[in-house]
Amino acid sequence: MTDKSQQFASDNYSGICPEAWAAMEKANHGHDRAYGDDQWTERAAEYFRNLFETDCEVFFAFNGTAANSLALASLCQSYHSVICSETAHVETDECGAPEFFSNGSKLLTAASVHGKLTPQSIREVALKRQDIHYPKPRVVTITQATEVGTVYRPDELRAISATCKELGLNLHMDGARFSNACSFLGCSPAELTWKAGVDVLCFGGTKNGMAVGEAILFFNRHLAEDFDYRCKQAGQLASKMRFLSAPWVGLLEDGAWLRYGAHANRCAQLLASLVSDLSSVELMFPVEANGVFLQMPEHAIEALRAKGWRFYTFIGSGGARFMCSWDTEEERVRELAADIRSIIGA
Ligand SMILES: *Cc1c(COP(=O)(O)O)cnc(C)c1O
Repeated sequence: MTDKSQQFASDNYSGICPEAWAAMEKANHGHDRAYGDDQWTERAAEYFRNLFETDCEVFFAFNGTAANSLALASLCQSYHSVICSETAHVETDECGAPEFFSNGSKLLTAASVHGKLTPQSIREVALKRQDIHYPKPRVVTITQATEVGTVYRPDELRAISATCKELGLNLHMDGARFSNACSFLGCSPAELTWKAGVDVLCFGGTKNGMAVGEAILFFNRHLAEDFDYRCKQAGQLASKMRFLSAPWVGLLEDGAWLRYGAHANRCAQLLASLVSDLSSVELMFPVEANGVFLQMPEHAIEALRAKGWRFYTFIGSGGARFMCSWDTEEERVRELAADIRSIIGA
């Protein structure tokens, strides 16, 4: 095995997809206006509005931590709080950035089932305290697909947004793996966002095949007020913006974003199916997106690592996480499955 072998630690181990690469190349001709006043940025925003079938406000940031943090900050004041799942990326993997960029809005974790919040768990946290001493709940953030590879169905989303409306909460969606969710459900982007009551979506480009970049879509346009200033202040306004926006044109213009999501999902299904009969390997969560979480004996985890496989064991609730990406090769999935089988001694 060489250093460049495909791994399953994260979907961001992958490189740049051809469509994004080609668009970068096309954008790299002559001079163009800076700070987002260029044609590529206009086109990318227009593609998003067409794809989502609505006149949303579109912004671009370098990564998901910034996109999530700035989006959440725009949905609340510093004395407000944000309800999230205990496994949410904003809670466990953003180094306090949501609190930092919102000047102190506290994250409140709610119980989740397979990584998903429920109307009941939101209600419990939102109604726990209503006195002046407690940070007032103002936002709910959900992750689609979730950190443990599950997907919210449209009816689940609608039930959550109804609860949010009733309780006066804004609804944010971390869509680092939004393409995987759309592909799994066969739903349109609109159905999984604004039609289901989502106010703001952070649409992940990096894990979908780009080098860098996430788009922030405000379906509720008045929440986007001054968001451009927020991005600039946080160091997220790219001066050569066309290189952040052009890859989106590449991904969106012929549906590559969805094909890649579907491909990654298929690889995860394949991996799960190749090990699901092993009695000492347990699927920890339903495989719905591009991740497979396996509970395995400690010795098996060590043996897999010794064979050179890279994967995380601290995401979700223990066990080994295997992520597939836009370019995962089926052969590599089969190699991994074969190594798991031989180590377990099936
Ligand atoms: C990868 C990921 C992000 C973005 O992370 P960055 O490293 O900041 O780009 C956000 N949310 C989830 C659920 C992720 O998996």
